[in-house]
Amino acid sequence: MTKAFLFDMDGVLFDSMPGHAFAWVKAVGRFGLSMTAEEVYMNEGRTGAGTINALAQRTWGRNATEEEIRSIYAAKSAIFNEYFLARGEAPVMPGVCDVLERVRARGLQRVIVTGSGQHSLLDNLNRHFPGMFRRELMVTAFDVKRGKPDPEPYLIGLQKAGISADEAVVVENAPLGVEAAHAAGIFTIAVNTGPLPDATLWAAGADRVYADMHALAKALDNSLKKRNTA
Ligand code: CA
Repeated sequence: MTKAFLFDMDGVLFDSMPGHAFAWVKAVGRFGLSMTAEEVYMNEGRTGAGTINALAQRTWGRNATEEEIRSIYAAKSAIFNEYFLARGEAPVMPGVCDVLERVRARGLQRVIVTGSGQHSLLDNLNRHFPGMFRRELMVTAFDVKRGKPDPEPYLIGLQKAGISADEAVVVENAPLGVEAAHAAGIFTIAVNTGPLPDATLWAAGADRVYADMHALAKALDNSLKKRNTA
């Protein structure tokens, strides 16, 4: 019996990944590190420190210092903000409001599980999705030690919602996020909103893969109809 849907944020609620890819590539280049846009998508979900250390190991043969991590992450955040200032803010993912409404209509809890550490997160969510999310049911970078692909963020999400893994469904878009949710033992729906092939999501352990949020909303309608006629 499903009691809650756990939603990732970037690439699920907001179509923000193109901005993250742009910002990571540009920011790390300023510090003598390199990263392709495809690598940004493959690493999506990791904490900022985890991503920076992986790049530092590759180029410098060592982890980044605390100061380097702070500077690089600050540069990345600044470039990300400029990117969307120039284009208007990160758009809401097309079709995701339909998905959220269907989940709410079934009386299911909505939980956010994100690696993001923006302090303005809840305000942002409330502005775009009024009444849909609550502070107590959010897992952010401030809650976790290990971050995705470790199952920790999703396990904390279950704990905050007071439910077990078989009472939850996860909606993710990235391979490492799917890996984290699958490792937490939760039924995982992947919606492929980015440029990677579906095979990367299946390989990470997705139970379903949809092309976009409209397809997921339709699937939720169909499963509801099935239940009503059963
Ligand atoms: Ca994501």
